[in-house]
Amino acid sequence: MNFQPHLERLRLLYPVRRQVAAAVFFMALGVGVQLLLPKGIAYFIDHVNELNLASISWPVVGLGLGWIAVQVVASTLRYYYFERSGHLIINGIRRRLFDVLINQPVSFFDRHHVGEISSRLSSDVQSLHQALAMGGANALQSLCMFGGGVTMLLTISPALSLMLLVLVPANLYFGKVSGANYRDYAKLVQTSMADSNRVAQEQFTHVRLVHAYNQQAGASASYAEASRRLLEVALAGVRLQSAFRGGLSVLDYGALLASLVLGAWLIGRHALSVGDLMAFVIYSTMVTQAAAALSEFWNMWMRSMGATERIFEIMRTHQPPAASRPQAPPSGQLGFEDVVFSYPERPGVRALDRVGFVIAAGEKVALVGASGAGKSTIAALVLGHYQPLGGRLMFDGVAASELDLAAVRRGIAVVEQEPSLFSGSIAHNIAFAVPERQVSLAEVMAAAKLAHAHEFIQSFPQGYDTLVGEHGVQLSGGQKQRIAIARALLRDPGILILDEATSALDAASELQVQGALDRLMEGRTTIIIAHRFSTIAKADRILVMDQGRVVQQGSHEQLARQQDGAYFKLVKDQMLALRPEAPLPA
Ligand code: ADP
Repeated sequence: MNFQPHLERLRLLYPVRRQVAAAVFFMALGVGVQLLLPKGIAYFIDHVNELNLASISWPVVGLGLGWIAVQVVASTLRYYYFERSGHLIINGIRRRLFDVLINQPVSFFDRHHVGEISSRLSSDVQSLHQALAMGGANALQSLCMFGGGVTMLLTISPALSLMLLVLVPANLYFGKVSGANYRDYAKLVQTSMADSNRVAQEQFTHVRLVHAYNQQAGASASYAEASRRLLEVALAGVRLQSAFRGGLSVLDYGALLASLVLGAWLIGRHALSVGDLMAFVIYSTMVTQAAAALSEFWNMWMRSMGATERIFEIMRTHQPPAASRPQAPPSGQLGFEDVVFSYPERPGVRALDRVGFVIAAGEKVALVGASGAGKSTIAALVLGHYQPLGGRLMFDGVAASELDLAAVRRGIAVVEQEPSLFSGSIAHNIAFAVPERQVSLAEVMAAAKLAHAHEFIQSFPQGYDTLVGEHGVQLSGGQKQRIAIARALLRDPGILILDEATSALDAASELQVQGALDRLMEGRTTIIIAHRFSTIAKADRILVMDQGRVVQQGSHEQLARQQDGAYFKLVKDQMLALRPEAPLPA
């Protein structure tokens, strides 16, 4: 048996060991007091004739009240400390898992959908809570009860106890066998759960499109299909659980019947008192119940092992970033040397095929080419989202592999085609550019002014504190873009990556965005994933891409003269699409 996965989970208890110790103390106290009760009852029954009931009634009531008081205090505090430790563990593991997830390379998110990931964070972690806190508490209690009960049984009648000795291992074995099956079911349940969450999240994310195409019924159907699969595996688990419980109760009642029969026989032979048989029956019920609870716990534990297998797998992938000496961010010179790259999800397709170029510091380069030519892939590699399979990237003449990724990224800013804004204030969204230190509002404003965003931000009643996104104002495409530009300006990078917006901005806001962009590009090495002719023409140099290769490069004038070149054809196509009657560029 491989103990590693068990130890891995038990280790989670370490940080909360004090709480767990307190919980175990109160649990042992409770169990000890509980174990006294049948013995007390036996004494009472066997001595009922000798006892002067009228005179002892007060002490009996006093004892009873004391028993209840200890029981109440012990069970309350036991519950409190176990639950508290459970929540502390879960909170810790959730945060650790989030840290690991947010630090995963971008390729991880190509493979895993956001809905799936959030399901891992919520439901998988929850099942660990159940196993560790509630399950663990019950199991420990049962273990104590089991040990104490067996001791009591042996003191009452070793002969009767022998019979139970056969039944109890049967009980435990039963739990072990079904536990192994549980593990597999639980894994399937969590996978199906993650899958149905993924479907739901996707439909809600695209809710506008779903409504626009009257696809609500289709959305419901996909969710119904995903939850049907979840139901199927869950029900298979329930069938197993029911069979397990049925089997256990056969053992329980069998044990009870056998003790009564054998006990009656022993009483007939004066080897046992009536009170002792009574106590024995109660103890044996306690012991079989404790054994049943232990096997049930084993099931729960195995279920949680299955359910949390994925999150532990993910957590094991985490490699703490190598502590490197602080490096200055690159100042602007950038080169690709024979770079070959395929996306991990599509190993057969070369997204970049021996791409080589050098961009001088401060130079503005436009990447043009048909969709799928590899323009965004170049940007993704510059940002270090993926590593090249062959060749290398150079920053200021140093290979990227020699540099600290975080330092490289500190020198780069991105303005996306569809700027991503977080739900939070506008100021927060701009200050996002600088994670290393506290950014003052004055700095945020200065950046916004340069980005031509200050005016419209000021026009909102809440100004820079205006919330954006789901629970705040909805910004227009041009406004979002100017906020993204302000963010990039605040970062003050040596290298800039612009995924140029194709969204049709109205003429006025296009002019403002363009003005802000010009300001942003000043003096910075810029890679523009270009769509608009106006930007292409302004670039110092154009790299024309086709199927992962750089097929042509030069200034607009140079390239436009090569009438058999890819650039000429691209421009011609674009011109024709815009204005069929437009003259071809000379
Ligand atoms: P462009 O930006 O020029 O439109 P891309 O760089 O996005 O082109 O894409 C280049 C190639 O890589 C295309 O064949 C595209 O389908 C593929 N590709 C892009 N992103 C991914 C990804 N995350 N996983 C797998 N393949 C991808």
